[in-house]
Amino acid sequence: MDRFCQVILSEATRAFDRPFTYRIPEALRRQTDIGSLVEVPFGSGNRLAQAYVVAVVEPEETTFDVKPVQRVLSARPVLLPDQILLAEKMRFRWLCSTADALRCMVPSAVSAVGDRSLRFAALVDPEEASSRLLDGEINRLGQYRVIELLLECSQAPVQEIMSACQVSRSVLSTLAKNGWIHFFRQVVARDNLSDEPVEHQDAFNPNLDQAAAIHQIIQTLDADESGRSPDSPAEYLLHGVTGSGKTEVYLQTAQAAIDRGRGVIILVPEIALTPQMIQRIQSRFGSSIAVLHSRLTPSQRYEQWQRILREDVRLVVGARSAVFAPLRRIGLIIVDEEQESSYKSETHPRYHAREVARMRAKAHGAVLLMGSATPSIETYVRSEQGTSKRLTLPDRISPSGLAHTQIVDMRQELADGNRSIFSRKLQEELRTAFSRGQQAMILINRRGFSGFVLCRNCGEIIRCPSCSVSMTVHTQASPDRPDARSNRLICHYCGRIKPLPEHCPVCGSQHIGRFGAGTQQVEAAFNQLFAPARAIRMDQDTTVGRLAHARILSQFERHEADVLIGTQMIAKGHDFPNVTVVGILSADLMLGLSDFRASERAFQLITQAAGRSGRGEKAGEVIIQAYNIDDYAIRFAAAQDFQGFFRQEIGYRQRMQYPPFGTICVITFTSMSDQMARESSLKGASACRARKEDSDSYSEIDIMEPGPAPIRRIRNRYRHRLVLKGPDPELLAAFLVPIVDRVDFGKTSVAIDFDPYQML
Ligand code: ADP
Ligand code: ZN
Ligand code: ZN
Repeated sequence: MDRFCQVILSEATRAFDRPFTYRIPEALRRQTDIGSLVEVPFGSGNRLAQAYVVAVVEPEETTFDVKPVQRVLSARPVLLPDQILLAEKMRFRWLCSTADALRCMVPSAVSAVGDRSLRFAALVDPEEASSRLLDGEINRLGQYRVIELLLECSQAPVQEIMSACQVSRSVLSTLAKNGWIHFFRQVVARDNLSDEPVEHQDAFNPNLDQAAAIHQIIQTLDADESGRSPDSPAEYLLHGVTGSGKTEVYLQTAQAAIDRGRGVIILVPEIALTPQMIQRIQSRFGSSIAVLHSRLTPSQRYEQWQRILREDVRLVVGARSAVFAPLRRIGLIIVDEEQESSYKSETHPRYHAREVARMRAKAHGAVLLMGSATPSIETYVRSEQGTSKRLTLPDRISPSGLAHTQIVDMRQELADGNRSIFSRKLQEELRTAFSRGQQAMILINRRGFSGFVLCRNCGEIIRCPSCSVSMTVHTQASPDRPDARSNRLICHYCGRIKPLPEHCPVCGSQHIGRFGAGTQQVEAAFNQLFAPARAIRMDQDTTVGRLAHARILSQFERHEADVLIGTQMIAKGHDFPNVTVVGILSADLMLGLSDFRASERAFQLITQAAGRSGRGEKAGEVIIQAYNIDDYAIRFAAAQDFQGFFRQEIGYRQRMQYPPFGTICVITFTSMSDQMARESSLKGASACRARKEDSDSYSEIDIMEPGPAPIRRIRNRYRHRLVLKGPDPELLAAFLVPIVDRVDFGKTSVAIDFDPYQML
């Protein structure tokens, strides 16, 4: 008797996103199981397509014309049954296809199982490329980065280039078309991560608060062992000020779960930014862990993933996508810095890892542990309502206690004749610290300090020709002559590069200049005031390449610089005991964005940055420079008063029905034609209105007027959007399903984003 299976095509759009039945030929029977990757003939032309087996089923009545599975591509299943169920849930929750969700769970290199060869790229003529690059022939940042990378390492797998340079495949195709690079296939050995031996570190003796937290979590783990219902996941919020020893709680509860034969996932915001966290986990658990993050090469990622699937490791640590790790019998999922926006995917499917973690914890009967010094409003509300249990670590481990914070009114500085970007107070604190051999960090808010170019005669701002945003000035030393510096304009949305004009393109005036300051200008101003103190800078432009972050951080740690200047990214997680001063420039420019999380972000950023100061024996100083010093987010952050901030913020969220008291869904319609994007948004809106009128269940859903997105054009594509509000995401998703599936939006692309972190 023949057996049959149901498969999901791995490249299916939502139109073909359903299980198809195939016959399993006798010869393939032993290799075919739920989760196998197979090749099946599809459509009238019987084109071969890759597919995942999602069920093995009894024969159906009409079995005579069922096509057979052609090949089994994986020796063993590549998906676990619980992952297939998870993909189904994601399909409903985030309106993606099942295949989209499954793609999050299987590394791309799995599709290369056939011949183990990967596509590589190399420069056609490195010497010529290097001279053409200096001639300014390249006007796209992405292309520039790719060429630079290939000049450095001569050849690299295409996937690896795409992730290291953060470019899409089309950037590479363009370079190939213009004769810069060529492609070839090459067999690769799947390499292991170079496991540098890390010195073992024993567990600390927990203090009373840590012990209480650890005890509760372990009790829940044990309760689960004796058959707690899988429907009631135990959810904890570990709220502990920075430096209170949350990591120790993670490590000891992880050990407890492993001792009980369960798997553990530890999610961290972005590995590149938190090398210390990884080191601490490695120093406790040695090499018996798998590390997954976005900057692994495809072969490294594949290797790590195989180790998990083979059950060689029980502990997985990684950034957002590690939440999908193919671990069996998960006992504990830890989400560190749970408020971080990097847990939200900004590409399709736009899932939130915190919510996926909750889904998986439920399915595995696991404990979900979220930790933060500044919990998100969403998570804190759950702990207030009793949906989760709150554990608190109120004190810092180190004797110095919390840093001392001060707000400086920059309007007053100006009135008193100080035109520097450094307030007098900050200057004084920096000098004191340097004179004692201590270090400092200076944080600027990139959005407020964009460094755009303005004509002082007619007010023209130089904008990107393909996007409706201003371009940013970047100063670059030329690779051959480090003393020669050139200024270029870069668009942060599409990466276009232009030379800095000498005259205003509109009125011809020469009074054209840079406005605002970026990290580079802060660095220059710092050098002027504080030389010979040494500055080191970390921002998106100095940190291309896989190791740049770690290199800069370890240089700073070795005290090869006195100050670290950077954007938001330096505020996170680093533990530098010798840092005693943190300066935050223009803290209030984070506010006033058209974003319901603006205050929350400002509060978190200031609190986090303050947490970087005085981590060691020495007490810390935090100077917050602002223009609008009365803002509640700044006030509460300076006072390190989370409760106060929370009370005020939930009032606003409740009034406006913003998360978690409601859900917003932003649907963006994108097209080369402004008219087409607009028409699609109108079509979407009228489909929504019709559906709302059709059924009483959706009376609570609000449909806003469609209109152009705040940034109307990115990469020459026009963007219109439609915003919906509803009481909860499930209802809103159910409301939208038939609209997404049945309304024909032609060539307009439609992106759906629930409770977005970027409202642009
Ligand atoms: P958090 O994660 O809350 O910011 P950390 O886990 O980084 O805090 O802890 C701060 C410092 O205190 C770290 O250097 C850590 O090694 C140390 N530490 C944590 N718990 C203990 C303990 N029980 N005894 C001694 N030192 C501890
Ligand atoms: Zn002008
Ligand atoms: Zn642009």
